[in-house]
Amino acid sequence: MVWFSYHGGHSGEFCAHAKSALDEVVDAAIQRGFTHYGLSEHCPRYRAEDLYPGEENLGVDGLAAAFDAYATRAFALRDARAGQIELLVGFETETLPPDGWLERMTGLRAAYPFDYIVGSVHDICGRWIDYSPADTTGLAADLGGPEALQLAYFSAVTTMVATLQPDVIAHLDLIRKYEPADFGFSARVERVIETTLEAIHASGGVIEVNCAAFRNGYGPVYPLPQVLERAQAMGIRVTLGDDSHGVETVGVGLEQSLAAISAAGYKSAVYLTRADGWREAPLETIAPRRL
Ligand SMILES: [Zn+2]
Ligand SMILES: [Zn+2]
Repeated sequence: MVWFSYHGGHSGEFCAHAKSALDEVVDAAIQRGFTHYGLSEHCPRYRAEDLYPGEENLGVDGLAAAFDAYATRAFALRDARAGQIELLVGFETETLPPDGWLERMTGLRAAYPFDYIVGSVHDICGRWIDYSPADTTGLAADLGGPEALQLAYFSAVTTMVATLQPDVIAHLDLIRKYEPADFGFSARVERVIETTLEAIHASGGVIEVNCAAFRNGYGPVYPLPQVLERAQAMGIRVTLGDDSHGVETVGVGLEQSLAAISAAGYKSAVYLTRADGWREAPLETIAPRRL
């Protein structure tokens, strides 16, 4: 049996909007039966206007120092817990600053011996899409409406995937976070999503099926069934992501991700190992390890 997540492991030690110390998060992952667990703390931001709310006191320099401390701690824990769990160490990217993010992200990836990176888009033109319904509604209005925002978002994801080529593509349809639970994309947006999926396929990237949306009451897991079914038909591989932000959320809701993968027609998912890269696991072999 294998049980895994490759997006999450955020901790209050290194992230202002998460909770718990990183070793507590890792020990929770061991307790909850994970055989493989990816740590993907948020990358630093490089401009004061790109700080997340709550990071004002840290500032840009403090954020860079916290990220460096995260990497040091994560690699040390990877070794210290090696007999109990395989930890994979990476980080979650941003498309920030709007000019020069690609150089920043590739530079950061090269600066440490990371096992992988998680490619995310959380902004359009430097404005958060997932912070609050009011901000997202305001951004959509400025761009010409929700559909225009969705088109801009998937276009940004396509560019991110094609240029950065992340190992894991995070919360693929994050842009529908504040839409109703029965929301579906328009035919026009679906055509743009098709282009995004083609870029993911061409890059060899793996989509994480992320249970945070379900856990937090924002509809089904990311991505929606219509998107996941297309990914399956195109032969794009999938993995699991709990998007944990502290001990409380480690692994919580991941069975919903697994159910969505199965419902989309997949017979297997993939998990990342340091020795062999991505390995395929039949769905019936994916479950928490009994301690
Ligand atoms: Zn976060
Ligand atoms: Zn994210």
